[in-house]
Amino acid sequence: MLLGQLERLNREAMLADAEIGRQITAKILHLIQTQGEKSTKHILGYTMTIYLLEPFWKGQWENNSLHYVNDRCVCVPGGGRRVGVFVSKGGTGILLQLVLSGSKESPPSEELMLQLHSLLAKVGPKDRKFGVKARLNGALNVTVNLLKQNLQNHKLLLPCLQVLRVYSSNSVNAVSLGKNGVLELMFKIIGPYSKKNTSLLKVSLDTLGALLKSKTNARRAVDRAHVPVLLYIYQDWHRNDTRHRHMLIRKGVLGCLKNITNIKLGRKAFIDADGMRILYNTSTECLPVRTLDPLINTSSLIMRKCFPKNRLPLPTIKSVFHHQLPHVPAGGPVAQLYNQPLGVDDVVDESDDNDDVETENDTENEEEDKDHHARNDDIETDINKLRPKETHSRPFEELKIYERFFLELSEDFQRFNFDNPKSASPLAPAPTPAPVHTLDTINITKDHDEQELVQGMERVALEGTGPQGGAGAEEWAEEEEGGEGAVLEVPDTALLLPLHDPDLYVEMVKSTRSVPQYSEVAYPDYFGHVAPTFREHILERVYGVQRTKIFQDIERLIHPNDILDKVVYDLDIQSCPVIDDGESLKFNSQFESGNLRKAIQARKFEYDLVLNSDINSNHYHQWFYFEVSGMRVGAPYRFNIINCEKSNSQFNYGMQVLMYSVQEAISGRPRWVRTGTDICYYKNHFSRSSIAAGGQKGKSYYTMTFSMTFNHKDDVCYFAYHYPYTYSTLKMHLQKLEALRTPQIYMRQDILCETLGGNSCPLLTITAMPESTSNDQICQFRNRPLVFLSSRVHPGETNASWVMKGTLEFLMGSSPLAHSLREAYIFKIVPMLNPDGVVNGNHRCSLSGEDLNRQWQSPSPELHPTIYHTKSLLQYLAAIQRAPLVFCDYHGHSRKKNVFMYGCSLKETVWQTNISATSCELHEDLGYRTLPKILSQMAPAFSMASCSFVVERSKEATARVVVWREIGVQRSYTMESTLCGCDQGKYKGLQIGTRELEEMGAQFCVALLRLKRLTSPLELRNHAHLLDVESDLIETRCKVSSPSTYVLEDEEHSFMEEVDYSAESGDEPDNDPDAADPHDNRLSDSESNNHRDSLT
Ligand SMILES: [Zn+2]
Repeated sequence: MLLGQLERLNREAMLADAEIGRQITAKILHLIQTQGEKSTKHILGYTMTIYLLEPFWKGQWENNSLHYVNDRCVCVPGGGRRVGVFVSKGGTGILLQLVLSGSKESPPSEELMLQLHSLLAKVGPKDRKFGVKARLNGALNVTVNLLKQNLQNHKLLLPCLQVLRVYSSNSVNAVSLGKNGVLELMFKIIGPYSKKNTSLLKVSLDTLGALLKSKTNARRAVDRAHVPVLLYIYQDWHRNDTRHRHMLIRKGVLGCLKNITNIKLGRKAFIDADGMRILYNTSTECLPVRTLDPLINTSSLIMRKCFPKNRLPLPTIKSVFHHQLPHVPAGGPVAQLYNQPLGVDDVVDESDDNDDVETENDTENEEEDKDHHARNDDIETDINKLRPKETHSRPFEELKIYERFFLELSEDFQRFNFDNPKSASPLAPAPTPAPVHTLDTINITKDHDEQELVQGMERVALEGTGPQGGAGAEEWAEEEEGGEGAVLEVPDTALLLPLHDPDLYVEMVKSTRSVPQYSEVAYPDYFGHVAPTFREHILERVYGVQRTKIFQDIERLIHPNDILDKVVYDLDIQSCPVIDDGESLKFNSQFESGNLRKAIQARKFEYDLVLNSDINSNHYHQWFYFEVSGMRVGAPYRFNIINCEKSNSQFNYGMQVLMYSVQEAISGRPRWVRTGTDICYYKNHFSRSSIAAGGQKGKSYYTMTFSMTFNHKDDVCYFAYHYPYTYSTLKMHLQKLEALRTPQIYMRQDILCETLGGNSCPLLTITAMPESTSNDQICQFRNRPLVFLSSRVHPGETNASWVMKGTLEFLMGSSPLAHSLREAYIFKIVPMLNPDGVVNGNHRCSLSGEDLNRQWQSPSPELHPTIYHTKSLLQYLAAIQRAPLVFCDYHGHSRKKNVFMYGCSLKETVWQTNISATSCELHEDLGYRTLPKILSQMAPAFSMASCSFVVERSKEATARVVVWREIGVQRSYTMESTLCGCDQGKYKGLQIGTRELEEMGAQFCVALLRLKRLTSPLELRNHAHLLDVESDLIETRCKVSSPSTYVLEDEEHSFMEEVDYSAESGDEPDNDPDAADPHDNRLSDSESNNHRDSLT
């Protein structure tokens, strides 16, 4: 309290009436004397204040007091805390006051100023308001004037510069200092290489760097031609500092350049001053010395920033293919896409910069931590939205037509002869439901004109012999240079791949409808994939790979003569160029699930690849699948996919691309293998149109790059983002599975509906046949709980299909477990919710240009038929009181490792938010945790730690949340499988393959069997299992309170090489919404920011 009075006096009246001050001081002194010399915080604070103030009031300043503060409070071990106390007691204010008063003496006492500035340099950084205080009190100018007058007085210069450095970190100060000529002052101090006064130089550079963060100052520096000066200084130090003793000075110069180039003018000045070449050359020379990495990294950052932004080499970013929708909802994505005025260039914006905005009026944003709670913004806080929705929106009359998809619920098996089951199965072939008008979308697709198709299929060499002619040997139809037409042996995989049959595959392709009307079949889909038996480790990242790649990119600017820029594949041109001069690779992706729009040979062995957007969309590309031929054996090829959208990728964390070699296949190794070296993923210099970036301007694309040498001459190789699984493959598998049916298995295939693209969406029913037609048996049969599974709503998540394959194969298997499982449940399965997306090589959407997993709240029967009818099935079940016990939608996750689940829990959601009061009263059954818990105990790839049961606002229209809330399924899940690999369990350190994915699908089934035991009335009495779950829940509940549990950010830790994703002009942290996972549908929606990695 006394101190408060003191301070007030100090500010206002003290100078006028020193007598009052003296009196108060006397009181404090008395206080201290009576309390003894305890070094309590308070006493210390008072003491210091008094020591400082007393002589000041007396008008007889003694340097001793400053020495005292310095000795007692700053320069002792543990001094930091004392400095803190000093600051908290207003010490800095007093020191600044002293600076001001001291300056009024003429000439100011050099000794006093030296002392004061030395102290301020130490105390200032600890005071968050130091900059503001200094400005308000006028000390800023005192220091500046002192500097101007003492440029040669190095003893005084150093502490003054140090204080100035602290002042400059405040943005308003920086602008004001700039106006006062401090930039020029700094340039007087810094200069070419010299062994003298390096500490002075270092501080000046830091100060200059801080000042240049202000765009006004940066502009001033550009106007005064300081950019070439800085580059010259940098080169000079680079040349002379041969023993690298002054790395920090060199880094200081780069720091200044880094800040100047945040503005467009700065980047231009940098380019004009040949900055690219200078930094490129110096960096290259630094490469062998590891300690110089900070220089290389900063140089690389500056060069990336200044690298002129390019447009993607495309006429439009709209998908090459267009599909006419039955109707185009106004305001929907497709209407927006195609209603742009003619002549609008959607590839780039008018302005490619959003960072040059005037920031002269920078506010005092010193320590505002706005993003503190940002990550939790997406959690649903509306309790009403977390509670089950009571009303059934649709009348039962309307749902009744779905009865025919549930024949098993009314089947009496009277026609079925149980003594001789083979003779009279009522289930084969699948009963084709009678057409009902209200479901007029349900149709069975008619085959295309077969003749035409077969002729078109020359690539897979089915010409002539026709698909049926295959006794294994087909003609090699790749027109080889030699023209000899090698014999193509179809690998005999029947034993290894019981569900695969090349001939059947081709049959299936014939009835698959694609928008581009593909007529070719890719070899991998035709031959099949036999998972390799060797382990494929998660790649260890090579140190410096990113900057090597970036430097190679920069070389394109520096050595433009090396650049070929030869388009070798281009779907935007009607007759896609086929270049066959032996100098370039040949590309192709015109087959089911293929996605490659353009290939440009940049250098002899380097290709830039552009992916096509999802149909009726202008973005969402990540999935790729293309063919390469005409390669040279042993040549070091580099491939760059240049229009990636996500801000980070598992390609930075050990994931490799997949490659399939036809030569390998015909040598008896038909398989996808993880391949590629020097893989990395980084922001590039292709600017992204705001039209495709949710309205954000000045954003860039990302490059995914990998290198590769081919082992075989005359090979045809395929590359894919993940193991392909086409719609035709699904149809083939389903047919093969149907053939596995035994008399004990009840399996039915219905066609749920037809898609926009004219493909049918299969619905499977699998359970066990009743043992007899006795009432008990039929009753047990009909009353089995339902399990509802779906998959592949997102076409790019092919892993989901492999998991589903594992599930289906297990369910149709002959093991006793499988039999028990079939007896326990009726399985309803929609194995591919988005056949059109899969067929057409989309990554995320259906033909409506929308993410189908954001349509579950109100799906349109015309635009989202598969979702509409799947939801109807569930609504029907809810209406007849048979809502499934478990609902699970299989997905793939591109940013996390392992397999895990998202579920829905009201309590866990509430725990994550601040709505605490009501939470205690919420009652919730813990059953939603049982299945993931079981899975974590038995499935090696599954990780409980990655599971989350929080309901997010951005997910309110997903299958998981809608089925939970509207259908009332407590165990409603999304199961996410990694695209990369595992970092725990048996598969730790390995990339995931189809074997592990299929195993996961099978384990899911086994887990359901355990769930059955846990939930059956008999077992409920045995609480042991449930207690286990309970304790697990309690454990997690404890963790839940810490912010780390709800982590939807990248979990990956940094590796040796600092990966910089913020090399965008502007240098701001990368928190733009479009850095969010493009997986999230609405880029413009700020909510998506929190879900950058959640792929539901
Ligand atoms: Zn997904």
